[in-house]
Amino acid sequence: MKVLKFGGTSVGSAESIQNVKSIIASQDGSKLIVLSAMSGVTNYLVEICDNFRTGNSSVIAETIESLKQKHFNITDELITSEKENLSVKKHISLLFEGLTRLTQQDFSESIVPQILTFGETLMTFIFSEFLKVSGMKTCLLDAKKFMYVSNLENPDTEKVGRLLAPFLNTTNVDLTYITQGFVRIDKFNRVNTLNRGGSDFTATILGAALYAEEIQIWTDIDGFHNNDPRYVENTHRLSHLTFEEAAELAYFGAKILHPQTVSPVIHRNIPIFLKNTFTPEAPGTKISSEITNRGLKAISAKDGITAIKIKSNRMLMAHGFLKKIFEVFDKHETAIDMITTSEIAISLTIDDTRNLDPILEDLKAYGEITVEMDHSIICVVGEGLIEDKETYRLFEILNDIPVRMISYGGSINNVSLLVATKNKIPALQALHKNLFQVQDRLVAY
Ligand code: ADP
Ligand code: ASP
Ligand code: MG
Repeated sequence: MKVLKFGGTSVGSAESIQNVKSIIASQDGSKLIVLSAMSGVTNYLVEICDNFRTGNSSVIAETIESLKQKHFNITDELITSEKENLSVKKHISLLFEGLTRLTQQDFSESIVPQILTFGETLMTFIFSEFLKVSGMKTCLLDAKKFMYVSNLENPDTEKVGRLLAPFLNTTNVDLTYITQGFVRIDKFNRVNTLNRGGSDFTATILGAALYAEEIQIWTDIDGFHNNDPRYVENTHRLSHLTFEEAAELAYFGAKILHPQTVSPVIHRNIPIFLKNTFTPEAPGTKISSEITNRGLKAISAKDGITAIKIKSNRMLMAHGFLKKIFEVFDKHETAIDMITTSEIAISLTIDDTRNLDPILEDLKAYGEITVEMDHSIICVVGEGLIEDKETYRLFEILNDIPVRMISYGGSINNVSLLVATKNKIPALQALHKNLFQVQDRLVAY
């Protein structure tokens, strides 16, 4: 079994959906297709939820109507025979009636994920009908029946596999299964999400659950680039990344992959291929356990970082001080990303600020606290990076850009820098120039 995931732009127009069909048809054996919502749809659903929260019902009705029209239009382009077209649109109307009913209830945060995941329900339905009309053998699976993921950090893929197994037909190996990305059932048995961009994570959770031979993530770019192409010119595709490199880059902001995409497949050693739906013949990027080349590989950046400094004379030679600080973060279930220490101060960063106030309240007992919001972690990654003699070049950016913290040596594969978010783009550009565009490295890559 292979798992193929197609993102929002890959299912964003009738033309790209035709490409998706050809990609699926060109591969033998049984496949599980994970689809996102059409591009832009989840953002509209977020808007609906915002208006639901504030009781702005007239705007909700308008947005629902335009979303319905969008899905009718794509159905008209994909399914032209009248009978099937009408019956598909009838079902779409019923789904939208359900959405409207959800927004007419009294607002509760638990309804929000049901609305947010609606785009995936629509897209998978339309796509499976389209494949059926084209004569392919398909089976639409409801992810809410098996995507039981209570712990986002560590999904129980064996459980997902057990729940999924009864829906799979072991006698027909050429079947194309289709299911929704993004959605999960949480520990309260409620519909929830895997967070924005979560369909990549769905694909690897299902890949691990099925002991799949490979996972293909089809998107709108030719593979993983060595820097963020939205901010930096002349980035280039990497033909191969190790699981660890990809995990680090995704966790530290590379938008091409949801931050947790890689973790479910590392232990099963299932390769992930990143491919471009619009140029399917291009080689893409392979993510696996193979180490093909060592040294500097790529750069990514994660926004929304808050730096907290705890300054205390008591820290001087006091054992147990750090333990107490960490206990505060543990108590408030908040992960720390970066840490630097000096004799009298410790600086650390968090990205989840939901419990910032109680954390600060507790930290006050240990010293003077300073908080700086709106920072970004820039992560430079490569197997054995620290042993690469070119790595020193990354410190040249200190000449031009204020760097708030540096983490070097925590792992030999990564160096992280903390900068104010307003300096992120110049920092990414300067690092790209220093690390990848000097003449000798151009030859090496
Ligand atoms: P999908 O909708 O298919 O999930 P995404 O928009 O989530 O696609 O991810 C693909 C986008 O990620 C690319 O179009 C690109 O702009 C952005 N991106 C950010 N960093 C990288 C990177 N290092 N390599 C490739 N693409 C990246
Ligand atoms: N549709 C969801 C989002 O836009 C999930 C995904 O595309 O991966 O976040
Ligand atoms: Mg994505």
